Amino acid sequence: MTSQDPGGASRLPQERRVVTEIPGPRSRELQERRLAAVPPGVGSVLPVYVTDADGGVVVDADGNSLIDFGSGIAVTSVGNANPRVAARVKAQADRFTHTCFMVAPYESYVRVCENLNRITPGDHEKRSFLVNSGAEAVENAVKIARYATGRQAVVVFDHGYHGRTLLTMTLTAKSMPYKHGFGPYAPEVYRMPLAYPFRWPTGPENCGPEAAAMAVDQIGKQIGATNVAAVVIEPIQGEGGFIEPAPGFLPAIAEFCRENGILFIADEVQTGFARTGHLFACEHEGIVPDIVTTAKGIAGGMPLAAVTGRAEIMDVVHGGGLGGTYGGNPLACEAALAVLEEIEEGKLTERARAIGETMLPRLRALAGRHRSIGDVRGRGAMIAIELVKEGTTEPDPMLTLEIARRCHARGLLVLTAGTYGNVLRFLPPLVIPDHLLAEGLDVIEEAFAG
Ligand SMILES: *Cc1c(COP(=O)(O)O)cnc(C)c1O
Repeated sequence: MTSQDPGGASRLPQERRVVTEIPGPRSRELQERRLAAVPPGVGSVLPVYVTDADGGVVVDADGNSLIDFGSGIAVTSVGNANPRVAARVKAQADRFTHTCFMVAPYESYVRVCENLNRITPGDHEKRSFLVNSGAEAVENAVKIARYATGRQAVVVFDHGYHGRTLLTMTLTAKSMPYKHGFGPYAPEVYRMPLAYPFRWPTGPENCGPEAAAMAVDQIGKQIGATNVAAVVIEPIQGEGGFIEPAPGFLPAIAEFCRENGILFIADEVQTGFARTGHLFACEHEGIVPDIVTTAKGIAGGMPLAAVTGRAEIMDVVHGGGLGGTYGGNPLACEAALAVLEEIEEGKLTERARAIGETMLPRLRALAGRHRSIGDVRGRGAMIAIELVKEGTTEPDPMLTLEIARRCHARGLLVLTAGTYGNVLRFLPPLVIPDHLLAEGLDVIEEAFAG
């Protein structure tokens, strides 16, 4: 194993092992109990009940060992049960589990914020504060933007996903399952076209500038730029299907914001923390956001999220205006400190790029053999394929579910995504050993073969 192959020191064997049907009898039993105890509104991609996980594998109650191409939705980027994260959380649990930072503070919270201020894009003076979930981070970013600008309108984009609270589900584009039946939605949220290269009517070459011009025109006409507090955008749309906005789109929107006193909020909840081959996806096009929201990969699975922004924006809110009982919980802060050390010492941004360089050519070759793969895209370890009716751009969500099912049955945990439900997305832990990554790709090829 190479030094870029950190699975060598794993606690559990880094292997795919399928010993029962998936889900197996024990998982099916647990699923029965769950259906009687948990409402069906809470879904699971693959109802195998997990008993253990490590590095790039997840082990279920029947003893199956699945290759993990999901990382709990881009969360366990430093590996399932990362030893440094586990040790720091345990040590902290023995000292104190909670004081509430708003009651009596502790150093680890401050250190996490110092780290965020240092590593997020831009070398301006910043401030950060901590909350529990990505939705809570986005919601706070909007609160601060409205306060700081004295404006109300918020601009979001097609295919965007920002969470499930009242405000963030309003910011989210897709009705089913995120919004359907849950209205009325929050006011003063406006949606604009996104530069989606694969689906742009005049072709991918024109997509960036045309989509930006449309968005700018509509903002001016429908809202009035001086009424807009903030634009909220994911630098790569996550739940929307790993859409990389066409080149030039994000810089044009950022420039428009700068010219009009609109705050540019980058929702890096899914793209952050080395996932795309940079610490933050905004760096791919040199974007410096006014506010960045982070969560998911920040703390190796402990619930933590953050809002980081320009000091002069963040400092306007009155004392006591921001916070929450659990925000920046000490166990989660210790985990976040461990995660950043793992990313920096393990060179995980480089590792993410290497994962992309392994996956993209193999998936492109697969697309050459299967005309149902309309697009292969992504950056670093955030890679997707979009499935269509052969030879068209018509989405094929049924085939997508079928391929995911075949992968699951063979012991590969993959996720779906996309506005049309026709995207298979791959988010392996950045520490996945090379042999498991290759085997996961073998499984995807087999799934397409039948
Ligand atoms: C997951 C996600 C959120 C919501 O985060 P939660 O922790 O589930 O509330 C917000 N924005 C993006 C881009 C996400 O991927």
